[in-house]
Amino acid sequence: MDISKIKQQVKKDYGVEVAVSEDERSIFLSGECGAWADVVAIGKAFVQPGKHVVNDIRLVGHEEQPERLPALKDGALDGTDWDVVVIGGGISGCAVARELTRYRLRVLLVEKHSDVARGASGANNGMVHAGIDLKHECLKLKYGVAGNAIYGEVCEELGVDFRRSGQYVIFDSRLIRLFAKGTVKRATKHGIPGVRILNKKEISEAEPSVKDFAVGALYAPSTGYVSPYQLTIAYAENAVHNGAVVSLNTAVLGMEVEDGKVARVRTNRGELTARCVVNCAGVFADKIADMAGDRYFSIHPRRGTDVMLDPRAQGVPEQTISMGPTLKSLSKFGSGSTKGGGVIRTADGNYLVGPDAVEIPDREDTSTCAESLEAVLGKHMQVCPTLRRGDIIAYFSGVRAATYEEDFIIERSSKIANLVHVAGIQSPGITAAPAFSKDVAAMVAEYLTSTGMQVQANERFDPRRPRPVKAKQLSDGERDALIKRDPDYGKIICRCEQVSLGEIKNALNNPLGVQTIDGVKRRVRAGMGRCQGGFCMPLITKIIAEQAGVSVTDVTKDDIGSNIAVGEIKEV
Ligand SMILES: Cc1cc2nc3c(=O)[nH]c(=O)nc-3n(C[C@H](O)[C@H](O)[C@H](O)COP(=O)(O)OP(=O)(O)OC[C@H]3O[C@@H](n4cnc5c(N)ncnc54)[C@H](O)[C@@H]3O)c2cc1C
Repeated sequence: MDISKIKQQVKKDYGVEVAVSEDERSIFLSGECGAWADVVAIGKAFVQPGKHVVNDIRLVGHEEQPERLPALKDGALDGTDWDVVVIGGGISGCAVARELTRYRLRVLLVEKHSDVARGASGANNGMVHAGIDLKHECLKLKYGVAGNAIYGEVCEELGVDFRRSGQYVIFDSRLIRLFAKGTVKRATKHGIPGVRILNKKEISEAEPSVKDFAVGALYAPSTGYVSPYQLTIAYAENAVHNGAVVSLNTAVLGMEVEDGKVARVRTNRGELTARCVVNCAGVFADKIADMAGDRYFSIHPRRGTDVMLDPRAQGVPEQTISMGPTLKSLSKFGSGSTKGGGVIRTADGNYLVGPDAVEIPDREDTSTCAESLEAVLGKHMQVCPTLRRGDIIAYFSGVRAATYEEDFIIERSSKIANLVHVAGIQSPGITAAPAFSKDVAAMVAEYLTSTGMQVQANERFDPRRPRPVKAKQLSDGERDALIKRDPDYGKIICRCEQVSLGEIKNALNNPLGVQTIDGVKRRVRAGMGRCQGGFCMPLITKIIAEQAGVSVTDVTKDDIGSNIAVGEIKEV
């Protein structure tokens, strides 16, 4: 469609005059608008095949929240030189860093927070999607299906729990069955194994809690479940084991470009040089691109809220169920804004309900609100009326890094020779990362080789990361033997999740040097149970202080400055 016609249509639909310009890569929009939903809808209206959209339409009266940056300034990285700098410690950056260590390269990963997995990779559903909802050829489909296929192998190597227990997409109308037949055909074409339609009897037997709603279901047996933060941590640890350096509390603040290449990278810890830069900055990926004068796409943040239920809750489906398209929502299925989520049995045995998908103007707005909680519960209570609000133990939001084109951008920049973008990694990024990280590492190696560098395989590369001990998963005999060897494994610190002192000490001994309360929580789940740390947090604070040889007042919950104790008033 021609751009002037879209402009006219936008004027008619939204009452907004948009200024539009174009180059060979992108369509650039500017102007003002009174509602954020309209800003996003207008951006989408201008999507054209083969072009990106850079949407600078301002929301009237809105001041963008300042970016959260580390409260640290030193020269630790000043003057250092690297073969590759990876920006961002989410699953994308950590997986790319790990795959890069298959080569003999000096790899640095910088992450602005005090730990990895602090962006979307730490706040999502951990569903390893089968890919049944993706209709068209795109990078999400390519890497989603390829990632799913290798998930078991990757998790085995990295010592992370993974369960491939399938997903039931429930439908409430016989007419949808016709639509489901198309989905099965498409899934087969896309190489997704085993997808089939279940009739009412079959789904009622497989998952009795939905028998009143479901007239049938699509069953995708290749859907799996992983702890997304534990996998991200495992990737980072294995990268370090193989020679990469992870610099936490380190934000990229600017870049200098010379002769069409990033010549210097400025951080809060000094200025460094790198032969190649990989942009894995999540919701800030377009800002990083902009620092290199290469902003040809824009990210619009899309928040998703999930509700967590007590693992002991009654009447919750044992299998993962997702609400399929209803007759009303059929046209939106596969539109890309959400994969639908559902009622999920996580890799750790909890129940998650959600997420929703809400367009928001601020990239780090992970607040939760009553509307979202009601929306996710309301939606899934239709399928499963036995869900109870009283079983909620926590809720959280994560922010997806959506592009207007609704696909990943995984490519070397056509303008800045030594810059690779891994951007727009919204769902199914957790699923796809094991696959695309291999291609990104190969892309970097190919570029470095093209500059005359000898890029050799790292013969010492060790793909394995030892599986951390989880005493809860051991048999009584195994646990007894463990406690005999180290009595700390017999002292339970987190009662809800049954986490022992031994496991906490082990977690504090992590290769990334993370010594925070939430760092312990992400590694061993202490504080993730029904009481949400009410009982164990003071104990963990004390353990961290003892292990690190500092005062409890120096212990932080997470980022620098998040100290939780201001002084000692009595023994904890
Ligand atoms: C609610 C929700 C549910 C989801 N469910 C699923 C699911 O079930 N399955 C699935 O496959 N996917 C799911 N996703 C998508 C998935 O979470 C993301 O695709 C994936 O986590 C993106 O990883 P990332 O590393 O690209 O980005 P992030 O995890 O956001 O990491 C980017 C990192 O870059 C850092 N950074 C940013 N700017 C700078 C800077 N200037 N300097 C240094 N560091 C910087 C950030 O601090 C952050 O840690 C879900 C997402 C959400 C929000």
